[in-house]
Amino acid sequence: MTTRTIFNAEHDAFRESAAAFVDRSVMPRMEELAGLHHHPSEMWLEAGAQGFLGLDVPAAYGGSEAGDWRFNAVLAEELSRASVATSSAFGIHYDVCAPYLVELTTEEQRQRWLPGFCSGELVTAIGMTEPSGGSDLAALKTTARPEGDGWVLNGSKTFITNGSTADLVIIAASTTPGAGSRGISLFAVEKGTPGFEPGRVLDKIGQPEADTAELFLTDVHVPAENMIGELDQGFIHMMENLAQERIGAAVANIAHARAILDETLVYVKERTAFGKPVGSFQHNAFLLADMVTRAEVTQAYVDQQIVAHAEGRLSAVDAAKSKWWTADVQGDILDACVQLYGGYGFMREYRVARAWADARVTRIWAGSNEIMKLIISRDLGL
Ligand SMILES: Cc1cc2nc3c(=O)[nH]c(=O)nc-3n(C[C@H](O)[C@H](O)[C@H](O)COP(=O)(O)OP(=O)(O)OC[C@H]3O[C@@H](n4cnc5c(N)ncnc54)[C@H](O)[C@@H]3O)c2cc1C
Repeated sequence: MTTRTIFNAEHDAFRESAAAFVDRSVMPRMEELAGLHHHPSEMWLEAGAQGFLGLDVPAAYGGSEAGDWRFNAVLAEELSRASVATSSAFGIHYDVCAPYLVELTTEEQRQRWLPGFCSGELVTAIGMTEPSGGSDLAALKTTARPEGDGWVLNGSKTFITNGSTADLVIIAASTTPGAGSRGISLFAVEKGTPGFEPGRVLDKIGQPEADTAELFLTDVHVPAENMIGELDQGFIHMMENLAQERIGAAVANIAHARAILDETLVYVKERTAFGKPVGSFQHNAFLLADMVTRAEVTQAYVDQQIVAHAEGRLSAVDAAKSKWWTADVQGDILDACVQLYGGYGFMREYRVARAWADARVTRIWAGSNEIMKLIISRDLGL
């Protein structure tokens, strides 16, 4: 494997502690997590105590204030070794919701939410997608109308990661009917607010440990001080934060694919057919040579973008390129890995089978691969 050059000794030390957390507290519980359909609170609290949840949060509010997005990338890579769902459950919190709660909030809001956010006592989620559509965010149907000293929200969200367990969900709602993308605002809706009900945890073809839920809002009174960011600027706020979500997805995609590819390389040397290791047949050896090359070339591209993002110069277009490309490469690699495991590759008890099913959604979520190509083609003037 080619050597990666973007990390220094501090990142390496951080990786060791993230890896230890995953090996000690997540990996041995994968079977149990699949039955729970969420990551339990003690896991969040442990991640909080280790300083993993407040990477983007100033120390004044209990954060670890890493000030370098490469730490976020390292954490995403280590969590991805466990599963796509584990990486996304925590990633939605420390990497996707964090910028909204740190950069768009008032001092009073920061003091109210960020200490719990960092400790793991306040788990977050973000609700953009609705049953009627996720790609066309500007067409969302959830409404927020002013009433008294606050807002009344009505509508529903679906496919929300951490949805049924989150203590605080950032909800995108239309505040100026008919204004489309210019009339959307963001609200922090807290668990237990009357009229705010999580629906069922959705039954997916993969990621059984993920809490992916519907959310229903029926006359939910939200105080004015729970608006996040500016009135009617929610769409712009979301667009500004989507690049981080997409490079985060890309980092997780390639890390997850590489972890399973490494395991497959061990398997094909041990498993024999016709008296030889299955990896020694030329077709399989070339297939693996192909996949390892793809993984390394992709990693080099993603690494370049990790650094760009850490230095504040990653464009939305480049983030879109990384997201769709890594999702496709991951799909190709995991499909090849399943094939190399033979029938065992189709058995749920094998990590490779779960990984293959878990990863399918990476071509769909965080903005589908088609939407990524739309962003890129527009940039090309098409
Ligand atoms: C497990 C899981 C977790 C998720 N977590 C979250 C979350 O935490 N928060 C959240 O808000 N959302 C979440 N999502 C939602 C996800 O982001 C959406 O599913 C995704 O954006 C696609 O929206 P959609 O499902 O409504 O598909 P649609 O928008 O209905 O699209 C259907 C198909 O049409 C294609 N399409 C749409 N428009 C175009 C176009 N202009 N050109 C070409 N093709 C197009 C799409 O690419 C797709 O293939 C999650 C989804 C899943 C499955």
